[in-house]
Amino acid sequence: MAKAKDAGALTRQEIETLYRRLSEAMPGRTRGAKGPKGQPDAFRSCISCMLSAQSRDTNTAKAASALFRLAKTPEEILALPDEEIAAAIKPCGLYNMKTRNLRKFCTALVEDHGGVVPNTRKGLLSLPGIGRKCADIVMSFTFGAEVIAVDTHVHRVCNRTGLATGKTEAKTAEALEARSPEWAMKDGHFWLIQFGKAVCTARAPKCETCPINDLCVWYRAQK
Ligand code: SF4
Repeated sequence: MAKAKDAGALTRQEIETLYRRLSEAMPGRTRGAKGPKGQPDAFRSCISCMLSAQSRDTNTAKAASALFRLAKTPEEILALPDEEIAAAIKPCGLYNMKTRNLRKFCTALVEDHGGVVPNTRKGLLSLPGIGRKCADIVMSFTFGAEVIAVDTHVHRVCNRTGLATGKTEAKTAEALEARSPEWAMKDGHFWLIQFGKAVCTARAPKCETCPINDLCVWYRAQK
């Protein structure tokens, strides 16, 4: 991704304008949106999010379905031998490492939280294998909190436009939270991710017809 020359230079007013335009151009949160990859509870959302690392959505969904056919709770997963877990989640890749991580996550959940997924970012981040992105996705989708989860699409859009900058998704998330107006927190993730997939794509972004190109630091730097 090309880096903005003057990253982070949007004024508060420009940030307000950027969000307002995205809210008009993008559909926002889908009614009844469920946890990561459509999972029905916080535990399965966390597991699905962990499985999604470096995996396509379709492969993550296959792995999650296979695993949840065998076990749906941390106790049930811990009762499975590693080989069985690894075989189930093989479609999402890195399955030996992910098996170890799932076991550590389930063990901590049972030992420290009575098997119940905590409903705070701090609590989620205390669990092995749960980073800022997974914590925020679970907080937003499963617990309905007004936080903007930063994935690869949101990270790209933020850094190109100058809305928020950071070398990692976690750093961008911190900056974005500090710079976003309260009214944008509920749907901001959805506007940004839809915009990143449809307009500000990784390759060949549609800059000439982009509704925020007059605000975008990266675009302005090319002119
Ligand atoms: S002008 Fe629009 S599409 Fe192009 S980089 Fe900026 S935000 Fe992305």
